[in-house]
Amino acid sequence: MRVLGIESSCDETGLALYDSEAGLLAHALHSQVAMHADYGGVVPELASRDHVRRILPLMNQVLEEAGVDRAGIDGVAYTAGPGLIGALLVGASVGRSLAWGLDVPAVGVHHMEGHLLAPLLEADPPEFPFVALLVSGGHSMLVRVEGVGRYALLGDSLDDAAGEAFDKTAKLLELGYPGGPAVARLAEQGDPTRFRFPRPMTDRPGLDFSFSGLKTFTLNTWQAHRDEEQARADIARAFQDAVVDTLLIKCRRALDETGLDRLVVAGGVGANRALRQGLETMLEKRGGRVYFPRLEFCTDNGAMIAFAGCLRLQAGQVETPAIEVRARWPLEELPAV
Ligand code: ATP
Ligand code: MG
Ligand code: FE
Repeated sequence: MRVLGIESSCDETGLALYDSEAGLLAHALHSQVAMHADYGGVVPELASRDHVRRILPLMNQVLEEAGVDRAGIDGVAYTAGPGLIGALLVGASVGRSLAWGLDVPAVGVHHMEGHLLAPLLEADPPEFPFVALLVSGGHSMLVRVEGVGRYALLGDSLDDAAGEAFDKTAKLLELGYPGGPAVARLAEQGDPTRFRFPRPMTDRPGLDFSFSGLKTFTLNTWQAHRDEEQARADIARAFQDAVVDTLLIKCRRALDETGLDRLVVAGGVGANRALRQGLETMLEKRGGRVYFPRLEFCTDNGAMIAFAGCLRLQAGQVETPAIEVRARWPLEELPAV
């Protein structure tokens, strides 16, 4: 079965064609980062309008690259939430209409299920069950995964998500938007012994996350050392070490509590090198294994939506012709496949 995937939940337009036999045939992405940079964050109306401009040209590009024409599409998957409602509506409207026109089934995909299943696109994918760490711009979650759609939330973000914390730290350090990769780059030149930031909520039991307090430490430390260029890198390092350490501690706890030895990491912060190395080392010591998506599939992309949609369509899940999207959508509400 060949499924066209459409991602438009935020500021990336992603299209992909996934074949259940041959795997990923082609994918294409347009990031709106440059367009939103002047505003210091995503402007929802501009995002929606840009998705309108990009989706069909990207779809044509993907089909051409795959050497497949529209009649070769057996199903359409689009992100139906969570995300910006206007942006979601663009992808859902195009996807649902296209499926209607081609007389093929359509399915609305949960964006975080897309992220969660992205590591399964790689060679030698993890078997169920596993623990998933989802760390993206809008979420920090630990999930016990028994199968597709069989998700039990172990821990959640109480305030700023991990990626959001990176972006806000970048803003405070005047590194631009979005700043996760910039903070990570600078942290490599930082002295790890200079400043020490707290590891939030690790001093009590539980698997929830709270990263908003780290902003205060970043701000206060930067205000005290603004005139030193090296301090900026040292702060980036202290911040990144605190986030990575906290994530490692919570992952270890989640693995202990569930008795599982497979960890899957997904979402934009999963691209962070320090986090990847820390988890590799930890899982190696435990005799377990950690699985990541390739770097470009950590952040938003159409491939993960095509893939998750294909699994759901193959299981017989289809949408009515109504176009429905949800700005908020708890992962645990998804039906099992
Ligand atoms: P959500 O998936 O929760 O709706 P989103 O789609 O905006 O949010 P993603 O596309 O998964 O999030 O990831 C983007 C986030 O990842 C941004 O916050 C970005 O700063 C962060 N990020 C990307 N690369 C890195 C990195 N190397 N280190 C740390 N953070 C990073
Ligand atoms: Mg994005
Ligand atoms: Fe995302």
